[in-house]
Amino acid sequence: MSTVAKSCSNCAASCCRFEVFLITDTGVPEEHIETDDDGTQTMLRLDDGWCSALNRETMNCSIYELRPWLCREFEMGSIDCLETWQAKL
Ligand code: SF4
Ligand code: SF4
Repeated sequence: MSTVAKSCSNCAASCCRFEVFLITDTGVPEEHIETDDDGTQTMLRLDDGWCSALNRETMNCSIYELRPWLCREFEMGSIDCLETWQAKL
């Protein structure tokens, strides 16, 4: 078992590589939204695999107050977060 302390600061924002569906309107700026032919909206991901709203220098969310509902639900230390950690070890 790893003894590395789990924290967003040493996780390289692993969860910000996931496909994030926009299921409520939280005010995400248009430039960060991708809309498919069916009208389904997700957070835009760039060629490096991360969400376009991720600040690549600080590895923090640049739209934290406007982040999607799914991002608000995904808390550090939650089951989903711990599973993400396990997957990258
Ligand atoms: S919430 Fe969890 S998976 Fe996401 S960046 Fe933080 S430690 Fe990593
Ligand atoms: S909106 Fe913010 S918290 Fe959500 S995936 Fe993008 S950078 Fe990460």
